[in-house]
Order: sequence, then structure tokens, then C-alpha cells
Amino acid sequence: MGDDGRGVSSFRPCALCGAGSPDVLFVCDAAFVSSLVFAGHQQAYTICKCARCGLVYVGEEVSDALLGELYGAEYYQGRDAGGFTDYAADERKYRARFHRRLEQLRPHIAGGRVLDVGCALGWFLAEAKAQGWQAEGVEMSEHAANFVRETHGVHVHTARLQEAGLEPGSFDLIALWDTIEHLPDPRSILRTCFDLLKPGGFVVLSTGNVDAWRSRVQGRNWALMRPPKHLYYFTPKTLRSLVDQVGFATVTVWQEPPQRIPAPIRALATRVSDNAADIFGLLAVKPESA
Ligand SMILES: [Zn+2]
Repeated sequence: MGDDGRGVSSFRPCALCGAGSPDVLFVCDAAFVSSLVFAGHQQAYTICKCARCGLVYVGEEVSDALLGELYGAEYYQGRDAGGFTDYAADERKYRARFHRRLEQLRPHIAGGRVLDVGCALGWFLAEAKAQGWQAEGVEMSEHAANFVRETHGVHVHTARLQEAGLEPGSFDLIALWDTIEHLPDPRSILRTCFDLLKPGGFVVLSTGNVDAWRSRVQGRNWALMRPPKHLYYFTPKTLRSLVDQVGFATVTVWQEPPQRIPAPIRALATRVSDNAADIFGLLAVKPESA
């Protein structure tokens, strides 16, 4: 029996508070994940919720081998429906989104040295560079990294963040756009970000909100319910808690405007509910005294 009296769980302990024996929300089975997994790997994933702190996550261990396959050369080339099939074709949309996000950041930070972790095809870096930032990226996909180097003329490290050989205390801003949910150890990544930032530097993240209306209604059919690519399903509360545990101070949390909804309705919805949008953003600062 486990120490909470509910039996020994085979699921991973909570990455936020360390509790074992999470509650099972549902299973995404082989029929559901068939387009996302490869022969020889696990065919079903269990979505768990920590009974103590509420963190939602994939209960099974995911191997380095699978992660290597998931984010290999072809991730951004459209072989796989879960990847960024239309990313390159959607340049204008992404550039506009990142333009808006940089505008949002401007009252807090307006320039300096920025690192994009999981920079994909580099639209954020391109936009930041155009606005005068000194930009560089980290990206595991060699194909995507080459695209960024050639198309945007931006330096990209093809490595995991911890192994990229970056100088501690050297960045003003580190961005993780829709990246943290993919990482097996989000705390370790955030710690590395903390070390890489100058005192007074910022980390900015966006990720799905599992408390969103649509997630609550649709459950395992929610568009962002994508194991094993998405290993964590944060809420503003659980992400803020993780970021603060690492030593950051959260500055602001916002809802990303839902697409395909007329602007006035969108504005009203996000005013009346914290959970109107599928995606939220969070900005946090490394204290000057750190
Ligand atoms: Zn927990």
C-alpha cells in the first residue's frame, strides 16, 4: 500500500508536488492515438490528475527513444498529423501572433538578448530580430533548425536546452511558446532557464489550459489532448505554481484570444471567464536579487 492508503500506483509521481497515486481522468487508447505513435511503442496513454495539487499529466513514462522519434527530422515536414503540417504555409498568421505577443511584452521588456526554446520554424525569432532583438534559438529538429538558419539568418542550437552550452546569466528573455507541455521534466527546463537569465530577466510561456471550457466539455477529444506529445496539461494555477517554485516571480497571466470567434465576443468571453480560451500565457521575472 502507498502512503496515502490507495495502493501503489504504477503512474509517475506528480512533477509539481511529488505526490504519487494520481486519479485517472481517462485513457487515450490506440484508436485515438494511432496517428501519433509509432510501431513498437505504447498504444495507450493514461491522463492523470494529481489528487493533491491538481496537475494533469500523462501517467506513463515516455522513453527518450520515443521523444527522439517524435521530434526527429520530419516533425515539421508534415508526415505526421500531430506535427506542424501547415506551419510553413501559415507564416503570416504566426508572424502576426508573435508580433502581438512582443507588443504585449513591451511594457515589461522591449529588447535585448532573447532565446526561443523549441523555436520550430523560427517565426518568433524572425519577428524578434525584425524588432531589433538579438535573437537565437534551440530546436531538436535538425530540419527545422536548418530552415531557421537559412531563412531567418538566426543562430540555432540543435540540442536539448541543458546541453546547448549556453552561458549562464546571459539572456534578457527566454520564450517557451507551446513547448513546456512537450517536455518530460518541465521543472528542470525552467531551472535551466532561470540560470540562463540575467537577474531581472524574463521567462514567457504559452500552453493549453486544461480548465478551458472546451477541454471540460470535450475531455479526451479536446484538440490539445495529444499524448504522448503533450505530456502536461497545465492551468494558470499549476503553471504559476511550478514557475514560482523554481524561483521566478509571476508578473502576469493572460488568455490567448481564441481563434475563429468574432473579436467583440472573444473580448467579452475572456473578460467574464478565466477559462474561455484554450491557451494561456504567463510572464515571470527572475528577481534582481537572485
Ligand atoms: Zn501534485
